[in-house]
Amino acid sequence: MNLKVCWMYHDIMDLYGDKGNMMVLKKRCLDRGIDFQLDTCQIGQKMDLSLYDLLFLGGGADKEQISLIPDLLSRKENIKKAMDENTFVLLICGGYQLFGQYYIAADGQKIDGLKFYDYYTDTGKQGSRCIGNIIIDANLDGIQTKIIGFENHGGQTLNVSSPLGKVLHGYGNSFDAGFEGFYDGKILGTYLHGPLLPKNPVVADFVIYKALKKRNPVIEFSDLKSLPSLFEQKARDVLFKRFDVE
Ligand code: GLN
Repeated sequence: MNLKVCWMYHDIMDLYGDKGNMMVLKKRCLDRGIDFQLDTCQIGQKMDLSLYDLLFLGGGADKEQISLIPDLLSRKENIKKAMDENTFVLLICGGYQLFGQYYIAADGQKIDGLKFYDYYTDTGKQGSRCIGNIIIDANLDGIQTKIIGFENHGGQTLNVSSPLGKVLHGYGNSFDAGFEGFYDGKILGTYLHGPLLPKNPVVADFVIYKALKKRNPVIEFSDLKSLPSLFEQKARDVLFKRFDVE
C-alpha cells in the first residue's frame, strides 16, 4: 500500500511548522509499512493534482496568499476533479480561507477564493487577530476527539455550514464563533497550526485513512495498525491541564 501526497505551495505556505504535518504523516505511514510519496507543487509547475490521494495546503501571510491566488484559481477544475475522485484535502488557515468564497486581507484587498464552499472570510476589525492556543472538540465521521493547536489569523470566517469542532479554549473561525474549521468528509479545513498533526495523532491517522480510501475504498479507520502515542498523549495531558479542559 502507498500514499501519494502533494503539498501545494510548500515554499511559501508553511507557517508555525506546518511542515511538521508532512513529517508526521510520513512517519506514521512508514511505521505501518505504507510507502509514502511526498511531492510539492510550486506556482507555475505543471501537475495533475487528481493523481494524488491527499492535497495539503498550509497557512501563510496575506502577501503569500495574494501571490499564489492566480495560480490556485487556474487549477480550479483540476482540484475539483481530484475532489470528485475522492482525493482528500487538508487545509490550514490561509489555505482553508482560499477554498471559500473570498478572503478580505488586512489592507482591505479582496482575494477571490476557489468558491467550492459558501464560507467567506472578512478581515478582523481594526487589524485585530485571533491569536493563541486553541482546543476544540471534533467529531470525525463518528470519532470523537479533542484537537489542540495554535491559531494566529486576522481573517474571520463566517457562514460555515459544517464546522470541524466546538471551541473549548481559544477563538476558532471568528472571535465569537464558538466553532472552528470546516469538515464535510472531503476536506478538513482548520485554523490550527501548531503544527496540527504532531499534537493530534488521531487526526493524523484519520487523514491517512481518508487519503488511503481513495484507492482502497473498503478500508476502515480501525484497519490502521495502532501505534504507540505515549509522548503525544503526555504532551496533550499537559495542555489540557494548562487550559483547564477536561
Ligand atoms: N493571512 C491570513 C490571516 O491573517 C492567514 C494567516 C495564517 O495562515 N496563519 O488571516
